[in-house]
Amino acid sequence: MRYAETGFNLEVDLTRGNIERIETDPRDTELYLGGLGTNAKILWDRVPPEVDAFSPENLLIFGTGLLCGTPATGCNRTIVSTISPQTKLMAFSMMGGYWAPELKYAGYDKVILRGKSPDLVYLWINNDKVEIRDASHLKGKGAIETAELIRQELKEPKAQVSAIGLAGENRVYYASVEQGRSSASRGGIGAVMGDKGVKAIAVRGTQDINIAQPAEFMELCYEVMDYIKWREDHPIQGVIPILAILGSPQEMAIHDEKWHTENFSWGNARLRRKGFWTEDVSDEWLETMNKARTRLISCYNCPIACGATISMPGLPTYMMKCFTKLTYTMAAMSNLDFGLTIAQRATEYGVDGYSAPQVMAFALELYENGILTDKDFPEMPADSEGRFFYLLDKIVRREGIGDVLANGTHWAAKEIGNGADAYAHNNIKKHEQLPLKLSMLNPIYFLMYCTGEKINITQIEGQFPQAPFPKREHREKFVKDWFQVPDDRFKQYFLDWEPRGENSNPYYPTVEMTCDIVDWQERMHYIDDALGMCAGLSSFHMKPPYHIHNYPKFISSGAGIEMDEDKLTQAARRYRTLIRAINIRRGMRRKDEKPPKDHWKKRFPELEKELLDGYYKFKGWNDEGIPTKASLHELGLDYVSEDLIQRGILTDGKDTSSKEVSVNEKTN
Ligand code: SF4
Repeated sequence: MRYAETGFNLEVDLTRGNIERIETDPRDTELYLGGLGTNAKILWDRVPPEVDAFSPENLLIFGTGLLCGTPATGCNRTIVSTISPQTKLMAFSMMGGYWAPELKYAGYDKVILRGKSPDLVYLWINNDKVEIRDASHLKGKGAIETAELIRQELKEPKAQVSAIGLAGENRVYYASVEQGRSSASRGGIGAVMGDKGVKAIAVRGTQDINIAQPAEFMELCYEVMDYIKWREDHPIQGVIPILAILGSPQEMAIHDEKWHTENFSWGNARLRRKGFWTEDVSDEWLETMNKARTRLISCYNCPIACGATISMPGLPTYMMKCFTKLTYTMAAMSNLDFGLTIAQRATEYGVDGYSAPQVMAFALELYENGILTDKDFPEMPADSEGRFFYLLDKIVRREGIGDVLANGTHWAAKEIGNGADAYAHNNIKKHEQLPLKLSMLNPIYFLMYCTGEKINITQIEGQFPQAPFPKREHREKFVKDWFQVPDDRFKQYFLDWEPRGENSNPYYPTVEMTCDIVDWQERMHYIDDALGMCAGLSSFHMKPPYHIHNYPKFISSGAGIEMDEDKLTQAARRYRTLIRAINIRRGMRRKDEKPPKDHWKKRFPELEKELLDGYYKFKGWNDEGIPTKASLHELGLDYVSEDLIQRGILTDGKDTSSKEVSVNEKTN
């Protein structure tokens, strides 16, 4: 019997219209857990590096986390993996909501799409009955509107629907998959879904999931719930409000946005708006939010309620995606009323709330600097808000300049030329980053940014505090009940971290300590992404309810796989390395692992080199960031080294790269 997972994937060949229910190998679950881990294994096995994002051979995998559908609080993530049209690397975007548990209850761990449908279709998964249905009547419809129309058409109000909007249909490189209460936005996975001709996947499931040791498992769940309650009454002192409590990231309940609005750089990631958060702005935002927010809502089986439904006058209600509350407002230098209004349209179109506003502000910067001209923007309104609506419409329709901008700032700058490159300045691995421009280099952030392969906010931060606390007594208090650390040495790292002087950024934490901290943070993110856990209850937060000490127990009693901390660490390393190998095979190298030039004002090239060298060594990668033959062997990944040797990427016997390769520099 299989526990926690169903043991079956749904394979859909869209070219032939063929659907199969395939039993999976339980040994893969032991080695790669589930969710992201087994998604990566499938992509490695079946999508060679010659396959482009928009090739029929590319796969689009909707994978549920291993513990999704069990009573584990906050475990509801769907991990959507494919090859990204924007980065040309593996994309693994995540969505919360209700979709993953529903798929498990329908009897499947993953839906794997391959090929391309000649006509627009949607999938209807109703327990054992699975159909490919015509979606021609849904062409051009909004993502949320589509979900509602499908529920009505199927007469199944409880169906969970993941859908794309116009942006996905038109293969915008930063198109998202929307799901009512969440979305998977990074990496342009919505564009791949559109390219495959799939408008939506609707799911209804009414079956059970087996738990290996139900009593032990429930005991662990109660402990987590008790801790969440305790944390509610005991917020962490001295950190910004969204980190003081749990949830990811509580933007909807919190009104004070002084920290975000004044500390990030807005527009095209250029303008730090010091002094923005006045009493008047605060009053105005509070009034707007109180009027617009209908209620606070949660994902499946989570008490945190960190999302909110938003109703703007004359517009359908939608769910606000955490940080999107700020990105449009601040990029357009406007007010919250505008931000909440345009976000409704952007959600229906299905675009990433980080990339889209930056791309639009980038276009306006090029216009202001004469690189783009009036000819590129026929009939564009004169006001900033009007221009953002205008550009959003052009982008999702790929009309005129919108067709160029739809590929994101990296590719658009290449196509526009004439110095536009200098304005595409906020990318890592060809993907728009957080509009965060800082002063002094922070070594932990530096490594998280450089080596992160998911490229979203929750995987840049982690369980270690973002900055030193000013007073030692405050730090002493913090470490007292910090039982989540994998080892007590992390407490000492933090205790000795000072805001100024010898033990401060950028030389403290030392290279060695930084590698250790980043490895811990990364490990937790990867475990979450395989189990399907929300980062807001685990890896994104300080002192979360899930950590390296209780996760093995959840896996043992839930999935029936004997697990301890070492085995779990080894499994996470295995699929983390496999993802790196997928990207290495696609041309990613050390030169791609650098934050934007202006990310920090004060840079330290020698130290940065040491940090990257140190981390590569720590991880068992060579100086190009390629996993060595020895480290692959240790993880049971000999099949990976054989492939890399055969391709001339690794040299047999030596752990150096023998071939210079570049990530594809052509648009699809
Ligand atoms: S913390 Fe927020 S985002 Fe995470 S599962 Fe709960 S409601 Fe969803």
